[in-house]
Amino acid sequence: MSFDYLGLSEQLLSAVKDAGYEEPTPIQKKTIPSTLQGRDILGIAQTGTGKTAAFTLPMIDILSQGRARARMPRSLILEPTRELAAQVEESFDKYGSHSKLTCALLIGGTDFAGQVKKLDKGVDVLIATPGRLLDHMERGNVMLNGVEVLVVDEADRMLDMGFIPDIERICKMLTKKVQSLFFSATMPPEVKKLTDTFLKDPKEFEVSPPTQTATTITENLVRFKGNDTVKRQVLRHLINEQGIKNAIIFCNRKKEVKVVNKSLNVHGYSAAELHGDLHQDIRMETLGRFKDGDLKILVASDVAARGLDIPDVSHVFNYDVPNNPEDYVHRIGRTGRAGKSGTAFTLSTQADKKYLDALLKFLDKKIPLHKVPDEILEDRKSKRAEKSQKPAKQKKSAKPSSKSDSSDKENTNNATPIIGMGDHVPDFLNR
Ligand code: AMP
Repeated sequence: MSFDYLGLSEQLLSAVKDAGYEEPTPIQKKTIPSTLQGRDILGIAQTGTGKTAAFTLPMIDILSQGRARARMPRSLILEPTRELAAQVEESFDKYGSHSKLTCALLIGGTDFAGQVKKLDKGVDVLIATPGRLLDHMERGNVMLNGVEVLVVDEADRMLDMGFIPDIERICKMLTKKVQSLFFSATMPPEVKKLTDTFLKDPKEFEVSPPTQTATTITENLVRFKGNDTVKRQVLRHLINEQGIKNAIIFCNRKKEVKVVNKSLNVHGYSAAELHGDLHQDIRMETLGRFKDGDLKILVASDVAARGLDIPDVSHVFNYDVPNNPEDYVHRIGRTGRAGKSGTAFTLSTQADKKYLDALLKFLDKKIPLHKVPDEILEDRKSKRAEKSQKPAKQKKSAKPSSKSDSSDKENTNNATPIIGMGDHVPDFLNR
């Protein structure tokens, strides 16, 4: 089925053509005609399914008539993260190049006064994170009684991030006439309650059940015993073995994101970190470099990376098994997008066992095992430290050996032997 039958205007059909899309994705096929008819929508779809265009395209047509008034946006799109909000703005730029619609982005970490200026001029499409929007509303910079279309994207992520009360507050300020479009990858009870309250007789569409991972992704599980040093060795081995084009490495905690990123850089990989502690400008710059191909590896936390639209990621690595099984689907969904093929690896040691059991139960399938050579599983760092404590070697090791294992720079840099303490070298001195 081509885009021609969805009811979109000629202008949009040519924008879609310019974007290189040949046919609508399932969520676009299902939701665009009903959205154009003015129906409320509940779309259960994960990222990577083309859901941004599913709401952006009909909105451009719906808003093509009419004019925006100062501080009274005509439509509102709520996104859980700044990056997602910025991506939606890019979509409007891309698909709306033929239209005269004005967009404003209200996200934290960027110029507040500049945002007020834009609002003053009047905007057709306001894209916001809930916190920053409420901030502006409390200062009287923006009023929602002119909103004709509301989009709540990634509703389940909003829940994870504690935004549901904010969404409720915002929804209550809209008039009864508003057309609401809600999208969520999963439907936990809190999201169900929200949609039951605010959607009027919605058309419901589900494009892939939450446990289903895209068929374009080859999944691999790497099970082994070992500490963090071994885990990083395994990660580097896989990166080298796979000849990756680019990759996202997910870690469960920010602390690990930082350690893994630092370690990869020490080993000469082109990597950078992405997590919630970083300033917005740095996050956007990092993302831009990754999209441009200037940066090959992004080490990320779930919150920072959820829903990011980065086309053509060849590999996803789960450095840890995610604590929340649903995050697995989202993480590996960064690759194999829009019909392209991708590869995902999940590393699991004894420390991940509990989460791995939960994940396999959730997925209700096995993930094929991928073997790594035994030598990769030897803790080279400890071995070197042990060797350096043997008296015969201690003499030589006063000078760094030129024969040291260059494949593990972490060791050569950090495990400088400490002489004269016998077996009782405190761990922190060996780091
Ligand atoms: P999304 O799920 O909105 O994050 O979109 C995922 C990716 O699919 C984006 O890179 C879009 O540009 C791309 N995309 C959206 N619609 C289509 C389509 N009909 N055909 C091919 N690619 C698409």
